[in-house]
Amino acid sequence: MNELLYEGKSKNVYSGPDADSYIIRYKDTLTAFNGEKKEELEGKGRLNAAISNYLYEYLAKNGVKTHLVKELDETSVVVKKAQIIMVEVIVRNMAAGGFSKKYGVAEGTELKNTVIEFCLKSDGLGDPMINASQITAIGLASKQELDGMIGQALKINGLLCMLFLSAGIKLIDFKLEFGRCAGEIILCDEISPDSCRLWDAATGKKMDKDRFRKDLGGVVDGYREVLTRLKNVKQV
Ligand code: C5P
Repeated sequence: MNELLYEGKSKNVYSGPDADSYIIRYKDTLTAFNGEKKEELEGKGRLNAAISNYLYEYLAKNGVKTHLVKELDETSVVVKKAQIIMVEVIVRNMAAGGFSKKYGVAEGTELKNTVIEFCLKSDGLGDPMINASQITAIGLASKQELDGMIGQALKINGLLCMLFLSAGIKLIDFKLEFGRCAGEIILCDEISPDSCRLWDAATGKKMDKDRFRKDLGGVVDGYREVLTRLKNVKQV
């Protein structure tokens, strides 16, 4: 049995098949508002694993370096061991969520340029926003690493926007995490409806974790529809 190394809110990390890897298992637990709201939703872990693996394979095919090694089963993956950079990178294409609230910009407002934000990865401090000079000042990442993460985030945004649009879905915003591995910065964690805002391109219907945050119901159905639509896309 692999040893449980870290119990996360929506994923557990176990020792891997060798010294350079971990196993990540997706859980059915869904949390919001820094863990204040929590629910078990049957099938959510499996759907997020399938969506994230699909997106990571697509990104890898298009030259993005990621931690994903292989799928083990419906909820588990083998990933490369990386030293996680304690900065969350948020990419926004339209105003929503925290951005709308903080700056008083109506949800769904088009943005004149892509927004990149950083948050300190700290549940204890509530993931506060942090800027580039603060990140380098306290040594969370070097200037070069930060520039690398911004470049990767913009590339990933372009690739994902294209893919989701072919699935009839607008990518409103999302969060990325990166890690250091063998002298490179690689994409880590997951990309799923837990970490993205995804709206139906025709109707604006929410298909992501906002269904849970806002008690809209049909959370798992929304996630399932995202996966079904992605699987119907003919990738370039
Ligand atoms: O809440 P906010 O609007 O800042 O979130 C922006 C995007 O980043 C959303 O898609 C949200 O799901 C994601 N996010 C995340 N994990 C966090 C913070 C934000 O996945 N800790």
